[in-house]
Amino acid sequence: MNIRKMKQEEIKKLINSKEFSEIYKTLDKESQKILKPYIKDRKIPIINKAKSLGKAIKEWVSHGMPEVTEKQYQRRLKICQGCEFWNNNTCKICGCTSAKLRLSTSKCPLSPPLWDREI
Ligand code: SF4
Repeated sequence: MNIRKMKQEEIKKLINSKEFSEIYKTLDKESQKILKPYIKDRKIPIINKAKSLGKAIKEWVSHGMPEVTEKQYQRRLKICQGCEFWNNNTCKICGCTSAKLRLSTSKCPLSPPLWDREI
């Protein structure tokens, strides 16, 4: 996918697509940079939020439902709150809220992640 050649309308369509969070992870740094201004206003479809949460919960359960310590949670929260993709208690890349930060098995969807699994 060549983001550099895409028209504004095509970019907006991509940003709001169901597949966006998976596609975003595969893009090079320059392409991600082009998309950044559009991401803040991204409207994450409810189905994507449910899918993302379902995936996180499934992995969490398969590892015995471990939770991070309060200190680890606060560290993750601080990173997200300082991230340009955090808006209204929601990550605009994966669609998850701060509840996901409590799960030891979860990680930031960026590549490389800004915070990682604690298992
Ligand atoms: S999970 Fe990662 S991308 Fe999402 S808001 Fe937090 S630091 Fe940013």
